[in-house]
Amino acid sequence: MSRTVLILGGGIAGLTAALQLAADGHSVTVIEQADHLGGRLDHAPPPLLLDAHTATWSLLKTLGKDAAARRLRHTPLEFLQSTGARIQFLHLPLPSPLNTLLGTTLFQGLSMRDRWHLLSFLERTWEQDPPLPNDLDARVADEWLASIGQSEHARHGVWNCLARLLLGAALTQVSAGLFMRTLRRCFLTGARATKLIVPPHGLDSFLLAPLKAQLDRLGVRVRLNTTAAQLQFSQDRVTHVELADRTRLTADWYIAALPYHRLTPLLPERVVTHYAYFQQLSRLSESPMVMMRLHLAQPVEQTQLVLLERNTFHWMIRHSDEELHEQAAVLWALSVGEPNLLPQSKEDLIRLTFDDMAAAFPATPAPRLIDAEVVRFPSAILTTKPGVQQYRPLSQSPFANFLISGAWTDTGWPANLESAILSGQRCAALVSAGAS
Ligand SMILES: Cc1cc2nc3c(=O)[nH]c(=O)nc-3n(C[C@H](O)[C@H](O)[C@H](O)COP(=O)(O)OP(=O)(O)OC[C@H]3O[C@@H](n4cnc5c(N)ncnc54)[C@H](O)[C@@H]3O)c2cc1C
Repeated sequence: MSRTVLILGGGIAGLTAALQLAADGHSVTVIEQADHLGGRLDHAPPPLLLDAHTATWSLLKTLGKDAAARRLRHTPLEFLQSTGARIQFLHLPLPSPLNTLLGTTLFQGLSMRDRWHLLSFLERTWEQDPPLPNDLDARVADEWLASIGQSEHARHGVWNCLARLLLGAALTQVSAGLFMRTLRRCFLTGARATKLIVPPHGLDSFLLAPLKAQLDRLGVRVRLNTTAAQLQFSQDRVTHVELADRTRLTADWYIAALPYHRLTPLLPERVVTHYAYFQQLSRLSESPMVMMRLHLAQPVEQTQLVLLERNTFHWMIRHSDEELHEQAAVLWALSVGEPNLLPQSKEDLIRLTFDDMAAAFPATPAPRLIDAEVVRFPSAILTTKPGVQQYRPLSQSPFANFLISGAWTDTGWPANLESAILSGQRCAALVSAGAS
């Protein structure tokens, strides 16, 4: 049966839910406070696509973009260590787990001792002997890796770099459980699991533009510059949403696809205090991110991703410019969890980016800067400290017609693009199941 659905928030989570619901025949309205759709994706670098990102691939398939993305070349994952050594994570066309084991064996970033410790651990966990310890979610990844024999060199030069890339925080700040589950999913399952693709396109042309066009075709109503101010509840349901201009909107179902700190102010105090589901949101926090996007007069052939061990920025992506392919490149430099970087001037941040770029992509003379954009996010990515996992809510709230979506909800993934898309798909499936 067709239902009316009101989605609060036009980020990728809300838009994914809208797409699936409209395709299922429901009447969907999205309200977004900004003057454009996309939310945080508006500023994000090209996504990292791994085979394990099944929700993202299924969205790309719906949009007719998956075949072209799969044809893109594998992007090599390189580590730049503090010694200046440059190491590639090898991708070998072998069935998993052999590809990963061999990749690890051949992985020059780890000493023989670290590789041996890791291999023996991986072999044992692959055979579930012993299974991953139960207390992993309560332990810090750095401490736990040390306990399975990983040296300080391996933890700093390899695992810390991967933690920042995959979880958006340093190894000393993330839960060992989420780190290990993410690594396993990304690199230990499926025959092509380690194939990494970084599409050399802006997210707008790659994902958002086709998504908006599809929503338009399916008749989804989008109200921009529209802010939800208050949710009203009866005994067990949401009754309506009040907008900032006092207009009331009603629907059969409501999906809040907002950041958690934007959701709680919309709830009546009695709802927050009465339900642990909402109360626990106050236990969540987000860490900062600084992102640079430099446009350079420099042709580049292949997209590259370099993880940096002890530099200002933690990873860099360089790809050819979408329009000025032969003449220009785009360089993305990201730093996560470093609040000291937020107040730095644009000039200083450009200088620091050039310093790191000289190490990651040496070139003489240094390429000419065409233009630069700085994005400072005091609250960018959900922190995944030990114990936080239990406070991330599932999609179904205690109110029958009210669902919660967003990268930060409990999807089993760090709060990334895959998590946001998966949460949107789950909410849409719950509405469709409830309506049938
Ligand atoms: C700089 C940066 C780099 C990133 N890099 C990566 C990466 O490399 N890989 C990766 O996987 N992920 C990355 N991420 C994370 C990824 O972009 C996010 O996880 C994802 O975009 C979150 O989507 P969302 O829909 O859950 O939330 P959001 O994008 O935050 O969407 C929420 C929407 O709700 C709207 N809103 C808020 N309050 C109201 C209100 N009261 N009424 C109406 N609308 C409201 C907001 O304007 C926003 O559009 C990055 C994020 C940032 C910030």
